[in-house]
Amino acid sequence: GVLEKPLDGPALQQLLARLQVTPEDISAGTLRTAIGNGEMSLDFQPIVAVKTKTFRKLEALVRWKHPQAGLIPPGQFLAIAERDQATIEALAEWVVGAAVDAYQALAELGVVVPIAVNISAQNLRDRALPDRLEQRLRAGAMPPGHLCLEVSETAAFTDAMLTMDILSRLQLKGICLSLDNFGTGYSSLKLLQQMPFSEIKIDRSFIGDLATSREARAIVKSVIDLAANMEMGCVAEGVETQETADLLGQLGACDLQGFLIGRPMPVEAVPVWLKIWERHESPAAQARHDGA
Ligand code: C2E
Ligand code: MG
Ligand code: MG
Repeated sequence: GVLEKPLDGPALQQLLARLQVTPEDISAGTLRTAIGNGEMSLDFQPIVAVKTKTFRKLEALVRWKHPQAGLIPPGQFLAIAERDQATIEALAEWVVGAAVDAYQALAELGVVVPIAVNISAQNLRDRALPDRLEQRLRAGAMPPGHLCLEVSETAAFTDAMLTMDILSRLQLKGICLSLDNFGTGYSSLKLLQQMPFSEIKIDRSFIGDLATSREARAIVKSVIDLAANMEMGCVAEGVETQETADLLGQLGACDLQGFLIGRPMPVEAVPVWLKIWERHESPAAQARHDGA
């Protein structure tokens, strides 16, 4: 049956052994077949503004609903997809298509909100990506400014002229570009100087340490200021406690993402989440809390 919780490494290994599926069976080809068979799905995690608590956007996160192994998180299969150019391109194509569909479905319910999708550095070697994305957005009546592409900083695209060219063309089309997991990768500041990103996502390893580490607070404050000075947006990832959210509020203006705000959820759950969120976190609700 389909498992409720994503598996971690050892649990997945156990299950694969029991099913007599060896890890080698999860090849790029298996993944492409799974994508074609509709075994991928997206969950959506909300992002809100730290001070006003306004709903800002959703991040789409891919999951593989394996018919035998159950729900497999992206960490278990991305590396396999990324080793094969055709597979990582097929995944991005599917993910963007599904995100556009979700955007339309939500818009029909009156929830019009930008959606961020993750792409891999390998996708920025695909010259056809900007035009394909533009066509898909047009077909789904999604404004390019409502699509944000998150790319993790990796050694894979420093100095690459091709990557720079593709990122610039995406930006010219009005698509937002976000530098994911900021602070954990390679040559972050050079990337910020050279590449047309409009947002920084501070890696959750810094956010998780905010309450206990003076160093983490200093780093996060500096990154929030850096984003402001560069006129870029800023998102703090992995906000799990109210204490962390309050600290971020003191450090400056950024958006919040994490289990405290909302877990990744199927698209149908988003309007429900939003209703509850607005009831508790709207300015009116805040005024009630404050006794106004
Ligand atoms: P990411 O883009 O940094 O996404 C955030 C990850 O942190 C997600 O894990 C999310 O479920 C998790 N997360 C969110 N809030 C919290 C929190 O408060 N605490 C903790 N501990 N974790 C939190 P997930 O869904 O397993 O995704 C892992 C990574 O896989 C993503 O990291 C992203 O780099 C990659 N990924 C996800 N979807 C896609 C996709 O469609 N395409 C590509 N190429 N990569 C993807
Ligand atoms: Mg991301
Ligand atoms: Mg991240």
